[in-house]
Amino acid sequence: MIVSVGSASDVKRVTQALAAHGQWVARVEATATEQLLVLAPYGAAVDAARLREIPGVRAVSTPASTRPLLDGAGSTVAVGDIVIGGERRTLIAGPCAVESEARIHALASTLARHGVSVLRGGAHKPRTSPYAFRGHGDVALGWLRDAADAAGMKVVTEVLSEGDVDAVAARADLLQVGSRNMAAFALLRAVGRAGLPVLLKRGAAATIDEWLLAAEHLLAAGARGVVLCERGVRGFDHETRNLLDLSAVALLANVHRLPVIVDPSHATGRRDLVVPLARAALACGAAGVMVEVHDQPELALSDGPQALAPDDVAAIGGRS
Ligand code: PEP
Ligand code: MN
Repeated sequence: MIVSVGSASDVKRVTQALAAHGQWVARVEATATEQLLVLAPYGAAVDAARLREIPGVRAVSTPASTRPLLDGAGSTVAVGDIVIGGERRTLIAGPCAVESEARIHALASTLARHGVSVLRGGAHKPRTSPYAFRGHGDVALGWLRDAADAAGMKVVTEVLSEGDVDAVAARADLLQVGSRNMAAFALLRAVGRAGLPVLLKRGAAATIDEWLLAAEHLLAAGARGVVLCERGVRGFDHETRNLLDLSAVALLANVHRLPVIVDPSHATGRRDLVVPLARAALACGAAGVMVEVHDQPELALSDGPQALAPDDVAAIGGRS
């Protein structure tokens, strides 16, 4: 809400009166004729008419939300018969890339025993270098689906381009939009049109607002729910691959009450930090975690240094 007062001298008094109604002033914008007190979104639910009665207040307006669909979407997303953001924490795990049919089957059955309910794995991989392994493509989608079905799990996998949407939507329960594509608006619209739930990773340099507006694009195009995924933003230190923004997770989970999953694998780039940060993520309100796993990380075709051993997943402590 925005509270308008006439003069700068009223700002302090009205700010104090607003606090008594559980309202906090996020910032003050001065125009030629008035001072606009922009209230923080997390204030107590209050009738605007009550605020208009405060002496010195000229008007109270409730601007239309820039994210009406996300605001109304609630804190849970159904992926088949599992609920992300509900009572139970969701464990998502699997390899960076689906490397072979045998390997993904063996991994899925181990992970299912550790309480993992969603199997991840890239078939179409975004890679920084054009010479790196870019995934086995559509054939790997079938391996992933069959392995998940055999183990009683759901599937999440990335949609890299608009041309892949139909093939991925035919095999996956949850469509992943990767960090590099968070603001690829045509892709967002195409993914949304598939009418499935979407896991939206945060861009490495995206503000929270940009990330949430990307989620709004997905919902506006028809996505059946969006799960946000914090995977680290670009930091200044190279000891870790990225900088895991747990403040954003706490804000989205506890203040905005949106479902957020944390990916400590891509955030840190190192397996020795994945379990501690997965636990930290759950402690600050994440709906679950997504981790990369490999049975022989030294042979992994991508992201081996950050892959947990399959049995390490048991140490995270979430259940779905
Ligand atoms: C992934 O999860 O497979 C991936 C490529 O991660 P990100 O988009 O976060 O880099
Ligand atoms: Mn990876």
